Amino acid sequence: MKIIGLTLYATIGASCVLAQTNNVPVALPPKYHEIEVNGIWGFQDTPMQPDGKWHIHDPTRTQPPVVTPGTFSQKATPPSDAIVLFDGTDLSQWVDRKGNPAPWVIKDGAAITSQTDIFTKRKFGDIQLHLEFREPLPATGEGQDRGNSGIFFMGVYEIQVLDCFDNKTYPDGATGAIYAHHPPLANACRPPGEWQTYDIMFTTPHFGEHGEVIFPAYATVILNGVVVQNHQAFRGTTTHCAVGEYSMREPTGPFGLQYHLNSVAFRNIWVRAIPTANEP
Ligand code: MG
Repeated sequence: MKIIGLTLYATIGASCVLAQTNNVPVALPPKYHEIEVNGIWGFQDTPMQPDGKWHIHDPTRTQPPVVTPGTFSQKATPPSDAIVLFDGTDLSQWVDRKGNPAPWVIKDGAAITSQTDIFTKRKFGDIQLHLEFREPLPATGEGQDRGNSGIFFMGVYEIQVLDCFDNKTYPDGATGAIYAHHPPLANACRPPGEWQTYDIMFTTPHFGEHGEVIFPAYATVILNGVVVQNHQAFRGTTTHCAVGEYSMREPTGPFGLQYHLNSVAFRNIWVRAIPTANEP
């Protein structure tokens, strides 16, 4: 049996992730047991998804169809009203969880994941995001242990970053998944070592005065020019092995990138605030 190492990382708010690595002492969560089905690791003793068909992180859930991407937004230059968060030169707009300078390494115009998650100093609400990422070559590890990172909107709503090129994992944790909630509509990954693009439209959840959800957070996610989430709703914060739930938050939050023990490169990160001026 393969030994799975799991380390629990607390993240901002209710979000957490479990890092899987063979180099970390085993610390399986007491409630759930990771299993392998047809070469895919996942869980079948976790809570059910609201559809009642699948457990969260179910390894037998239908895999997203593989789509070979065409060319799309690689090296897209930012529009005039964009806020450039990383142009290849410095991480002065980013900090770690404690507010210290971001410890990621800049090499050849890319920021390489290292030590801890990082977050923007600035807070955002509804945004259009462009970023590019590159998975390590040669690929090492399997499942969630291959090129894992993530994009945190408002610090707590994760779109998964993973190397799913010729690497299967539980679908609700695949590249482009709303982590633990919704698998991507397609597997549009490029091979490791190649630059890939995310273009994402994110809208914040809205709460009533008593904390009730008026409408949830949504994301439309385009991976390498392929729509992998189409105005899909988050079921709350994205938490390993959990359905997700909402708690009332400020209308804006920091934008974050995840360190998950793997070396993933990022470049050309910019956002635009999305106005709400075109209401009926
Ligand atoms: Mg991740």
